[in-house]
Amino acid sequence: EMNAEIISVGSELLLGQIADTNAQWISQQLAHLGINVYFHHTVGDNYSRLKDVMKLANNRSNLVFVTGGLGPTEDDLTREAGADVLNQQLETNQQVLAKIQTFFELRDIPMTENNQKQALVLKEGEVFPNNEGMAPGMFVEFNQTGWIFLPGVPREMKSIFLESIVPFMREYYPVNEQIVSRVLKFIGIGESILEDRIFDLMEAQTNPTIAPLAGEGEVTLRLTAKAKTNEEALTAISSLQEQLMMRIGDYYYGKDDESLQQKILEILKENSYTLASAESLTGGRFIDQFISVPGASAVIAGSVVSYQTQAKENVLHIPKSLIEEKGTVSEQCAREMAEQVQKQMQSVISISFTGNAGPNASEGKPVGSVYIGLKIGNQDTVVKAFQFSGSRENIRNRTVKKGMELLFN
Ligand code: ATP
Ligand code: MG
Repeated sequence: EMNAEIISVGSELLLGQIADTNAQWISQQLAHLGINVYFHHTVGDNYSRLKDVMKLANNRSNLVFVTGGLGPTEDDLTREAGADVLNQQLETNQQVLAKIQTFFELRDIPMTENNQKQALVLKEGEVFPNNEGMAPGMFVEFNQTGWIFLPGVPREMKSIFLESIVPFMREYYPVNEQIVSRVLKFIGIGESILEDRIFDLMEAQTNPTIAPLAGEGEVTLRLTAKAKTNEEALTAISSLQEQLMMRIGDYYYGKDDESLQQKILEILKENSYTLASAESLTGGRFIDQFISVPGASAVIAGSVVSYQTQAKENVLHIPKSLIEEKGTVSEQCAREMAEQVQKQMQSVISISFTGNAGPNASEGKPVGSVYIGLKIGNQDTVVKAFQFSGSRENIRNRTVKKGMELLFN
């Protein structure tokens, strides 16, 4: 059975300056190809440690992906260390060299000797063109282990992978197993209640498996199936999804990269409903989530961001007496905000947000105290009170998410 390993090269990764998104992405791609990844190994730009890691990988893995360190600078050592460990010679690839020369000629910058380094490839290996940059991808086999080298720049790495590595892998490393995942997203139900309802299914399932993932203000489940073909895996996932829907379907809003705001917009559009918001602590963030979705104009009327008390009085016409008596962080203020914005924007639905995002208590209301008002057509305005915790950002984001949840349910 194939087992792959990913080596990410770069001191910036070890210093924590950037996250290793390449390993994450390659792992996802290999899962699609049905290849198990057993190790992620990160190493700095250090010749001897790089060699050690490569020797280790050659002994324990059948397939090794190396990303990073193929650049022109002194600290890019992957090519040299690879040649050394895998007993290969380096030679200049004329096509790559010509491409680098053209690049410099076109820009009228002198080409240094360093730049020629990027045209060096493993002599016995295969070369995969880089359409986004200089250093090509490479493949070579050594002691029954396949080695694939890719540049570190994510855009270049991905383009070589998708254009050349995927077809190459299908031919040289065909697998009789596909791994397919689908993420199901739920809102308005707590994680423990959700898990409680499907506990027996989670326990019994081995293929597909059900894995809960933590989300901000929502619950998600990842279903993963292994099968001989993609279709077979998808069928297994769909039938498990049907079983889950019978139990928790009321809270389901979408799968994979489908968003809650997209779903809400669809529902509102089907009913020809329009939506307006009156926002205080959320500062327009709620409406922004919707306007980010193309086609929002059919549904979104607009928003009033009224932050200071004066703005609430002058723009939203919240009575001074109400504010003096109840404060802006109050059920009454949220109600008035929702009603006023509905009237002014002439929307079917309106929602309002007022609260204290911190860091200090105000009007005698603790940090995280939030009121959300929701008015639908001629129905009475419903105001709900919440007590959120965390940083200012957490509180504001939780408020936006809660508003969507109220709207969805
Ligand atoms: P180039 O040939 O373009 O110089 P390279 O192969 O030398 O690329 P590096 O110099 O290691 O690659 O990295 C180039 C840039 O790519 C880094 O500054 C970093 O921003 C990004 N990068 C490198 N490795 C990773 C990684 N594992 N995950 C995410 N980004 C990465
Ligand atoms: Mg580099």
